[in-house]
Amino acid sequence: MSTQEQSAAAATTETRSPDVVVVGAGTAGCYAAATVAREGYDVVVLERKSESEAGHIACGDALKGADAFPESIPKSRIEPAFTNTGVDHGRFEIPQEDTVLEIPIPGELAVIDRWEYGRRIIDGAEDAGAEIHYDTVVTNVCQEDGTGRVTGVEAIHDGESRTYDAEFVVDAAGSLSILQDNVDFAESTFDTNVNYTHFCSAYREIVRVDDPVDWSDALVFKPTERAAGYLWYFPRTDTEINAGLGFQMTEEPMQLVDDLKRDLERRPEFDGAEVDDKLGAALPTRRPYDSAVHPGYVAVGDAAGHVNPTTGGGIAGAAYAGKYAAEAIVEAIAAGDYGEKALWEYNERVMDHFGARYAALDVYNILSTAVDVDDLMGLLAAMPGEKLAEALYSGSTSIGPKLALESLYKSYGHWETILNLFRTKRRADELLELYEAYPSHPAGLEHWQRRRDDLMEEIYETTGADPKY
Ligand SMILES: Cc1cc2nc3c(=O)[nH]c(=O)nc-3n(C[C@H](O)[C@H](O)[C@H](O)COP(=O)(O)OP(=O)(O)OC[C@H]3O[C@@H](n4cnc5c(N)ncnc54)[C@H](O)[C@@H]3O)c2cc1C
Repeated sequence: MSTQEQSAAAATTETRSPDVVVVGAGTAGCYAAATVAREGYDVVVLERKSESEAGHIACGDALKGADAFPESIPKSRIEPAFTNTGVDHGRFEIPQEDTVLEIPIPGELAVIDRWEYGRRIIDGAEDAGAEIHYDTVVTNVCQEDGTGRVTGVEAIHDGESRTYDAEFVVDAAGSLSILQDNVDFAESTFDTNVNYTHFCSAYREIVRVDDPVDWSDALVFKPTERAAGYLWYFPRTDTEINAGLGFQMTEEPMQLVDDLKRDLERRPEFDGAEVDDKLGAALPTRRPYDSAVHPGYVAVGDAAGHVNPTTGGGIAGAAYAGKYAAEAIVEAIAAGDYGEKALWEYNERVMDHFGARYAALDVYNILSTAVDVDDLMGLLAAMPGEKLAEALYSGSTSIGPKLALESLYKSYGHWETILNLFRTKRRADELLELYEAYPSHPAGLEHWQRRRDDLMEEIYETTGADPKY
């Protein structure tokens, strides 16, 4: 840009100065904004979508743990979007084995009208006092020379440049956030070990049928025929189904639209079905960021890898990450401290609540890239559903051998896979233990990462998988 053009641009750039700027009006952004606003600070949420389109986000619409969402947006606000609260089990279709496995799902689960939920959390953030600026695309960050502190963002609103100066910026811009391409993280321990192969590419349609499906109390899962991916059918109601599929980006790309269409055509319950809506996106199926803080800046939700890497469930993690980040920011503003040390408690709370568990679950994702899918499906088909549920949800190491012993006879032919699973589970437990000892200070991160990386080497060796990180 010439000097003349630069001064012309500067003349038209409008500057706003709230206490906190949140980029993205998704779950993480709305819960962060509501929490900050309730403490009496000025907070502006910047959302690239229009007011009518905001909240329309690609999702399977399954909301786990809705009974314990953060309070900054009252549950009564979002509850009307819960269209199906009668789901209590997973239904795993294994066509290779001609088997259907039913596994109970503990805890509160709802299939939701995702767009309605999206609108309601935006309203909830506004009720708490946050301002929402729609049609505002964030294009860059502002950083202080020397310290590297993030001091705001640059955006385009209705074709006009805008600068937002703020004490803190919350990056809630979702998967592959553009902000992280622009921040220079040299002055902090912010996790930059992020690669597209850590993401899953996913697509879903909202499909309407005339006659009620007879599995409206189940989340239906099915492995895809080609490439290692999976399909889902989640009933928003007994006649409105969220049907989708995804694959990890380490694998051969799938033809998501065609592959879904083919499966829908084969299912008699979808005869004459109408498609109401189509959306696709990437989601992080990886471990959470080792650190998601930098002076003046915090990343939350998908922008920090806060998704359960085995199920793709990210709504609950995003809501809590938003709350924890906001609480750390409020304390840091009060202390007048913008450094990563002042924000570190946020990392600790994320690891303590769900991050450690997600990092351990990621080990099974790593394993799945190395095992034969048919063999794994054969093994699953040989397992009793109740026992599998125990193994999945108890988190206890003793369940593994119990599961195997009771099913040993049935699972003849899959013993090698079982042995592999046991060894992997032991490694996952070791990793969980290490994450439970996540450092309480940025200065401790490097040593902790070395120990973690050594353990990851052992995990790659045990599973036979290529290194993921
Ligand atoms: C196909 C699919 C199925 C899924 N199924 C489930 C499921 O069943 N259950 C579940 O719990 N999770 C599911 N997930 C994951 C879940 O949707 C995410 O983890 C969750 O939405 C993350 O919330 P977030 O607030 O971090 O990001 P998002 O919800 O992605 O919100 C980010 C917001 O930032 C805005 N934005 C981005 N860039 C900019 C910019 N430069 N300027 C301004 N605004 C910007 C976006 O428009 C968006 O509104 C699924 C994801 C996909 C893709």
